[in-house]
Amino acid sequence: MSASGSEHRVEAVGLQPVVTAEDILPEYRGTPIEKLLRYHNLGEPAPRSHGKPSMLVSMCMDHRKELRVPNEFAYVLRSAGGNLRDSEFELSYAVAVGGVSTVALLAHTDCGMAHVSAKRTQFVDGLISRAGWSREDAEHHFTDAVHRYEIGDPARFVVGETRRLRKRYPALLFAPFLYTVDDDHLAQIIMPPIDQESAVGP
Ligand SMILES: [Zn+2]
Repeated sequence: MSASGSEHRVEAVGLQPVVTAEDILPEYRGTPIEKLLRYHNLGEPAPRSHGKPSMLVSMCMDHRKELRVPNEFAYVLRSAGGNLRDSEFELSYAVAVGGVSTVALLAHTDCGMAHVSAKRTQFVDGLISRAGWSREDAEHHFTDAVHRYEIGDPARFVVGETRRLRKRYPALLFAPFLYTVDDDHLAQIIMPPIDQESAVGP
């Protein structure tokens, strides 16, 4: 989903780009996160098939994003804004039944969910003209749901999701990233110290 405006305050969350393998954060070395970065960012050759899933990737439904990973490498869960709040059963399934213990949480630049509450007119008019909805139904639909979808700054949002999910699934490895739609690269998000939590939490 495309946002019409530019993102705000992304620079407030520290980013570590991955241009060479040395840029991968130490806590991710030897984990499926390192493999993800080597395949996607560094373009390392991938096997035709990975055989079994190594991780779950949670990302936005936005049409401009595509992961370069081997077939069968990862569960991929796509949702508006990459918000997992209403998708915990899917996450739990990938862990408990699928056998993964690593999760990449992808925010992305120019996300339409960042300030989706400002898109009311476009949303309502679009449903009327394209989907055949009445104005009343379209307005109710937007009003009832929009508060669950607005994420604010995407990088800050994924920092908050990472904290929340680390508490809920304490044995899993969660890694937050910012996907830049302009160059299709993943940057590692440096988690801010806990004492700044009030400054960065959604
Ligand atoms: Zn998005």
